Amino acid sequence: LFVAVEGGDGAGKSTQADALAGWLREQGHTVLRTREPGGTALGRSLRELVLHGEDGSVTPRAEALLFAADRAHHVATVVRPALEAGEVVITDRYLDSSVAYQGAARELGHDEVRDLSLWAVEGLLPDLTVLLDVSAEQGRRRRGLVHDRVEREGDDFHDRVREGFLALAERAPERYFVLDAQAGRDEIGAAVRERVARLLEQ
Ligand code: C5P
Repeated sequence: LFVAVEGGDGAGKSTQADALAGWLREQGHTVLRTREPGGTALGRSLRELVLHGEDGSVTPRAEALLFAADRAHHVATVVRPALEAGEVVITDRYLDSSVAYQGAARELGHDEVRDLSLWAVEGLLPDLTVLLDVSAEQGRRRRGLVHDRVEREGDDFHDRVREGFLALAERAPERYFVLDAQAGRDEIGAAVRERVARLLEQ
């Protein structure tokens, strides 16, 4: 089973990915909890390059390619081997992040970025994408002090990210579970567990 947790900055993805992984382990599953960008040694170098430069230090196309490179390596060396070994894989961000950030917010185009991402991962899609929907303002408040080059973008950028994610969910509703990130952590966690439990029964 392959689950991606997606959403804007400050949505609470890492917390929910951790909680889901913990619960699945309690149920006896072997779980790989991973992340993008930065789920491999190469990815951590790419993450540094993409996120820790000055504003304007990476052009949008270069940014899209670097995230795609991170993902290609992550899927080939970490995600696929774990899935083939029968593990549950939970990733904090996956290719929908690229469509939302580079495709929608950086305006490179939904289909172009999706095609690039699918090429990078040889077509591997999650069984379920949990989308924690967060408004720009809410996300800004929740992440507190701003950290990286992308998080420093203004509310209109983060609004486009949000719209990008919601458009993806609308296109393929069967693969998405959309939750309001404003709901309580435990409430969200319970809803996610219920949905994942149903998938595991199939
Ligand atoms: O989720 P995390 O904080 O690890 O993401 C790292 C940063 O990279 C965030 O600022 C996120 O907005 C950005 N990002 C991006 N495009 C992606 C994936 C992440 O701009 N495709």
